[in-house]
Amino acid sequence: MSRRSRRLLTTVLGAFLLCCVSLPSWGQTPPTRTALRAARLFDGKSDRLLPDAVVLIEGTTIQAVGSGLSIPPGTRVIDLGDVTLLPGLIDAHSHLLLDVDPSNEGGGLLTPVAQSSTAERALLGAKLGREMLEAGVTTVRDVGNSGVNGDVALRNAIQRGWVQGPRISACTRALAPQGGQFPTLQPPAQPLIEQEYVTVSGVEEARRAVRQALVDGADCIKVIVDNGHNLLSLEELKVIVEEAHRMKRPVAAHTTTDASIRIAVQAGADSIEHGYSLPDDVLAPMVRKRIFLVPTDGPMDACDFFDTQTGDAERRRQMKERCRKNMARAQERLRRAVAAGVRIAAGSDMYTVMPGMTRGQASVKWFVAYTEAGLKPVDILRAATVNAAELLRMQDQVGSLTPDKRADLLAVEGDPLKDLQALMQVRFVMKDGQVVLDARPTRSP
Ligand SMILES: [Zn+2]
Repeated sequence: MSRRSRRLLTTVLGAFLLCCVSLPSWGQTPPTRTALRAARLFDGKSDRLLPDAVVLIEGTTIQAVGSGLSIPPGTRVIDLGDVTLLPGLIDAHSHLLLDVDPSNEGGGLLTPVAQSSTAERALLGAKLGREMLEAGVTTVRDVGNSGVNGDVALRNAIQRGWVQGPRISACTRALAPQGGQFPTLQPPAQPLIEQEYVTVSGVEEARRAVRQALVDGADCIKVIVDNGHNLLSLEELKVIVEEAHRMKRPVAAHTTTDASIRIAVQAGADSIEHGYSLPDDVLAPMVRKRIFLVPTDGPMDACDFFDTQTGDAERRRQMKERCRKNMARAQERLRRAVAAGVRIAAGSDMYTVMPGMTRGQASVKWFVAYTEAGLKPVDILRAATVNAAELLRMQDQVGSLTPDKRADLLAVEGDPLKDLQALMQVRFVMKDGQVVLDARPTRSP
C-alpha cells in the first residue's frame, strides 16, 4: 500500500469510528461498585461528623453518602472501622518539581534550575506526587517553579496512568517582572530566568504571556507581582487577569508587600499567595471580591531548623529569632484576615527537603499549623477541601463527599474536628475510585 493510500485509509477509518461506532460496547465490563464504611465522615461542608457512614462508589464517582445506607448486593465492601473519612485534601500551593535542600546555603531556588533539566525535575515530581497522594492530598495546584512546563508533563503522565499522583492544576511558568524570582542573581543570567519564569514588561507582553501559557497547557496563571527589585504595574496585572478570566482560568498572585497586594486585589486576582504583608485596607475588597488568601506560613517549630545547622552559633541564634518573629507576624495577619471574613484556601508552598517527613506529610503538617494562628479545625479542613476546590474551579469534581463528585477520599484515625493532628494518621487513601493506600492495622484473628 502506498503511503498516500494508507494515510487515506487511516483518515476514512478514523472518521468512521468517530461518527458511527460506539467503541465502549466492545467487551466493556460494568464499572465496579464499592462501598466504604467508616465510624465517622466529614463531608467538607457540614461542621458535624456523620456517624456510621457509608459511601457508595461506582467506577470513579460517588453515588451516595449517608448514615447506615443499605448496600446493594454485589458491591465490594471495604470496612474501614474506627476512622474518619474525609474528602481528599487539596494543596492550592505546591511545587512538585522543586526539592531544595535548605542546609545548602546560598543555593536556594537557583540550584535546581541551574543543575537539573525539566525532564529530571518531572521525574522528581512523580516521586513527590506519589508522596502527596499517600498523605491524602489527592489534588494540587502546582504554582510554577517547574522548569519549562514540566508540571504539564507530570499532570498528563498522571492522567494517562503512567505514574500515580494527585490530580494537578498546572500553572506552567510563572509570569514575573524583569528578573523573575531570582532578585539576587549576579550577574543576571537571562537564560536561567527564562527557564523558570516568563518575564513581562508592558501590557501586550502580559497579554501574550497568558495566551502562551494557555497554549502550553496551563490550568491556572501564577504571577509574581513583586520580586524585591521590580513590581508589575496595575495595568499589566489587569490585562493578565482579564485574559485569564476570559479563558476561565484563575489567577494566583504572589505578593509580599503592601504595594503588590493592593494592585493584585484591585486587578481582581483570584488568590493572594503568601500575603505576608496585609494592610487593613485590602481586607474589605478581598471579602467583597471573594479573593482567597493562601497562607503558606508553617509551624513555629520550623524555626528550630537553625538549631540543627553548624556554623557560628550567634548568627544561628539571630536567624532563629528572626524566623520566630516573622512567624508570629504571619500568624497575626492570618487572624486578622479570618476575623475580617477573608476566605482561606490551604497551601503549603512546600519546596524543600524536610528531614524525616515525606513531601505529603510535610505539606499536611503545614495545614495543621494554621491552628497555631487560632483557626478552628473545621475551618482548616474546609480551606483544604471545599474552599481550595472552588479556587481551582474544580468544585464540580472534588472538595466534598457528595453524589457525582470524584471518589477522592482519605481516612484518618481519631476525630480531626477535635484534634487536627489526626490528619497525620492516614490509614486509607482512594483517588478516582482506586485504592492507593490501605494502611489499616491487620486485625488479630
Ligand atoms: Zn510558592
